[in-house]
Amino acid sequence: MKETESPMEVQKLDMVIVGAGFAGLYQLYQARKKGLRARVLEAGDGVGGTWFWNRYPGARCDVESLDYSYSFSPELEQEWNWSERYAPQEEILRYINHVADRFNLRPDIELNTRVHSAFFDAQSASWNIRAGNDQSFNATYLVMATGALSVPQQPDLRALDRFKGQWYHSAQWPKEGVDFKGKRVALIGTGSSGVQMVPVIAQEASQLTVFQRTANFSVPAHNVAFTEKALKAAKSRYPERRAMGREAVTGQFLNANTKTAAEMTPEEQSAELEYRWKGAGGGFRMLRNFADQMSNPETNKMVADFVKGKIRQIVQDPLKAEILCPNDDLPFGGKRLSVDSHYYETFNRDNVDLVDLKTQPLVEATENGLRTSARDYEFDIIVFATGFDALTGALTAIDIRGEGGLSLRDKWKDGPVAYIGLGIAGFPNMFTITGPGSPSVLSNVVHSIETHVDWIMRFLEQVRSKGIRQFQPTTQAEESWVQFCADEANKTLYPRANSWYMGANIEGKPRVFLAFVSGVPVYRRFIEKVEADGYTGFEFSFSS
Ligand code: NAP
Repeated sequence: MKETESPMEVQKLDMVIVGAGFAGLYQLYQARKKGLRARVLEAGDGVGGTWFWNRYPGARCDVESLDYSYSFSPELEQEWNWSERYAPQEEILRYINHVADRFNLRPDIELNTRVHSAFFDAQSASWNIRAGNDQSFNATYLVMATGALSVPQQPDLRALDRFKGQWYHSAQWPKEGVDFKGKRVALIGTGSSGVQMVPVIAQEASQLTVFQRTANFSVPAHNVAFTEKALKAAKSRYPERRAMGREAVTGQFLNANTKTAAEMTPEEQSAELEYRWKGAGGGFRMLRNFADQMSNPETNKMVADFVKGKIRQIVQDPLKAEILCPNDDLPFGGKRLSVDSHYYETFNRDNVDLVDLKTQPLVEATENGLRTSARDYEFDIIVFATGFDALTGALTAIDIRGEGGLSLRDKWKDGPVAYIGLGIAGFPNMFTITGPGSPSVLSNVVHSIETHVDWIMRFLEQVRSKGIRQFQPTTQAEESWVQFCADEANKTLYPRANSWYMGANIEGKPRVFLAFVSGVPVYRRFIEKVEADGYTGFEFSFSS
């Protein structure tokens, strides 16, 4: 430091929360309620997390909005009016902004403040955090509310800088939007983001060419606008709805069939599948056709074949239909199911084409478009919907050092090791919200966020009332939880898919099933037992 420079001012806090999405805002709300001096640090210039960044055309929730919303405030539940069953991105972003204002959270949120590093200081048992433009914070507790899908996987397409047109990533969409009118558009990637974009871009662009590497399953959302009457009726049963969600595998009531396929006649099986595919069902209800759908390969194949039959019925060009049908080795639901509005129907439009990258891989970008192994294509715009470094990416992007300078990146080089998705051995006084090893991305994440924050706040109440200076999971507890998660995942068909759930979409990322697979109620009972037993699996040191 030069002599003329003043020493950097360190803001001292009880809690630093990283990220101003659903998790960060609720954590701040609860921390302040308990009298903690807390501050949210957010890289973006607005609140909203995922819903701030993912502004691509057609972006909307795939969990019904009445469920994908906070439950902590009955007044908020009653005041807010969702316009549709699955709200669009701009409405969810408006909701989050409303929450920030309604609960006066903004004074404790620092926008444009990306966290670069967080180092644990053993002497003071606190975290030193560097963020933004050389800002420093010191906090007793560090809460990582960084989100499961917040580090976009950048395209590594050769010679992209040569392309004379515009290109965009779904998760870094310009605020001003993109004008597709009259444009020739390439879209790379057919996960949930791509599937949502295709029908919308197709209506505007002169030509849309979809580049698909691996076909995945998509099911109709049957999205509808709420009538005043329907919304009023749903709101009048909110406590009931939330209670049913809490006891559902995904934290959202999906009217799961509790029978295995073998317990039903073929007629009953067909009726169940049709019911869930059609208007009364739709969306993730298709994941709950049969109790053994994700564990019994034969049952799963029945569902997969049913959906492939639907694809072949909808898509008129048999060649396109075959490309869109997933291979037999992909279990239905093994990759995150996409929930769409007229995705397959869009391939019947004259201005929509489909390229199978399995038969003609992408080679590079050219000045005028894209080159595959078969030919050159000309485009004005290239859209990448190529996904994220899921669950661990946002945590390892920050230089986090725990006890003795232990780096999180090093600790997790063979895959994430954490206890109940909430704490990490060697990283005292730190929490992850919906971290690896919790239901997170397999659940209604807003529900899981509330569960985690409420648990953290009860934990901290104990910590503070007992004069505990430092806490962290034991390595033994952590290892047995990781083993339990792997064992549970291995009882299912999930690990058979090369999915981002397994880290398979990122080259070199260890293949580990990243979430807790056995459902929200099982998980919640476990963490409640940890609590009831005096926080088993954690070690504590006390202030002298
Ligand atoms: P994704 O599911 O990971 O899909 C990425 C797509 O890009 C895949 O089709 C992938 O093909 C393809 N791809 C990746 N790299 C490629 C390359 N180099 N060349 C060609 N193709 C490539 O990502 P996403 O669609 O952004 O969705 C991620 C998750 O975010 C979702 O699963 C969901 O959990 C969440 N999300 C939710 C919503 C919602 O609430 N409605 C909307 C969007 C996203 P391969 O399969 O071959 O790798």
